[in-house]
Amino acid sequence: MEASGPVAASPCIFCAIAEKRAPSYVVYEDAQTLAFLDIAPLSRGHTLIIPKAHVDRITDLPPVQYASVLATVTEICRRMERLSRDYNIGVNQGPLAGQIVFHLHFHVIPRYPNQVGGFPRERLPLVPEEARTLLKELGPG
Ligand code: AMP
Ligand code: ZN
Repeated sequence: MEASGPVAASPCIFCAIAEKRAPSYVVYEDAQTLAFLDIAPLSRGHTLIIPKAHVDRITDLPPVQYASVLATVTEICRRMERLSRDYNIGVNQGPLAGQIVFHLHFHVIPRYPNQVGGFPRERLPLVPEEARTLLKELGPG
């Protein structure tokens, strides 16, 4: 006989963020996707974009979601250009590539003149006051 009762919540931190079981600084949201500030930014404004429905990897993303995910990545890029016209868009796939959260996410990482040549080794935590300022700067406009 199958076990009945409530379905256990996913232990995935990005599922928890998508379902609002865990906090995040939401930059953009629609039915399929969510964009939120990275808690350990590589640069000021570093934002993550996820499909709300859990997939580990880009190769697991259902094709019907391609357009919505890419549209949100592009919307975040458009807003990011208020901070810098130069940014990296990235996806880490697998531990050897540096993936530590196994829920597909796109990084949008703005680049600034003082950062030419690489990202900082030390990542500073996002502080709430800075996050609130960034949400205003990256808002719908
Ligand atoms: P990756 O190495 O591509 O798996 O990147 C995971 C990213 O998620 C890192 O940049 C982390 O700083 C970020 N991250 C982890 N947990 C959270 C969280 N709760 N809220 C926002 N960003 C997170
Ligand atoms: Zn997940």
